[in-house]
Amino acid sequence: MPMNIAIDGPVGAGKSSIADQVAARLRILHLDTGAMYRALALQVLREGIDPGDEAAVCDCCERADVAVRYEDGAQRTLLFGEDVSGLIRTGEVSAAASRVSSWPAVRARMVRAQQALAAQADMLIDGRDIGTRVLEHAPVKIYLTATAEERARRRYMQQLERGDMTPYEQVLRELNARDAQDMSRATDPLRQAEDAVLVDSTEMTPQQVVDTIVAIVEEAYGKQ
Ligand code: C5P
Repeated sequence: MPMNIAIDGPVGAGKSSIADQVAARLRILHLDTGAMYRALALQVLREGIDPGDEAAVCDCCERADVAVRYEDGAQRTLLFGEDVSGLIRTGEVSAAASRVSSWPAVRARMVRAQQALAAQADMLIDGRDIGTRVLEHAPVKIYLTATAEERARRRYMQQLERGDMTPYEQVLRELNARDAQDMSRATDPLRQAEDAVLVDSTEMTPQQVVDTIVAIVEEAYGKQ
C-alpha cells in the first residue's frame, strides 16, 4: 500500500507550499488536486461556458483531458497536453474552479482520477475533500487552517511581491466568498474529517508548520 497523506483546508491556508515542503522532506510526491479543478475551469472559460451551467460544465468535463505529470518531482498540470500550470493561478480561474467543482459529476470524475494517482505512488495530497472522500481511509489526515484575516494577509503579501496590487479588503472578500462556496456545496463540502488533526497556523512560521506535519506523519508511519 502506498503511503497516502491527506491535507485539507480553506483558501490560503498555505496547503500547497507547506505540502511541497513536507513532501520534499519525506521524499514523496505532492498532488495538488486544486490544480485539476483549475485546469477544468480554464477549459470552461476558454469555451465561453458559464461555470454555473451544470449540463455544459459536465459535458466539458467529460471531454476535457486534464492530466498531471511530474518533472523533477514537481507537479505539472496538463490540459489537452498543454502545460497550464502557470495559467491557472489567476483570480478568474480561482473563482471559476470553485463553481465548477460544485457539480457532482465533475467531482466524481476528479475523485476517481485522484484515487488512481494515489494508488500508484507514495503521495501527499492536498485539497478540500481528501480526508473526507478521496482518501477516506488515509492513516494521516491534516486539516490546515488559520484565521481568514491571516490567510488574506499572507495572500495579499504574496500577490504584492508579484506586482499584483489587489487591495487587502478585496483579497479578504474573495477568500471568504470562495470558502463559503466550498463549505456550503451539497457534494463533499470542505470540512474537517473527524479523524483529521487540526493544525492552526495563525501563529506559526511555515517552518513550524512543516515540522509539525512531518512529526505527525512520522508518528503514524515511523521515521522514513
Ligand atoms: O486549492 P485551490 O485553491 O487551488 O482549489 C481551487 C478550487 O478547487 C477550490 O476553491 C475548490 O472549490 C476546488 N477544490 C475542490 N476539491 C479539491 C481541491 C480543490 O473542490 N480537492
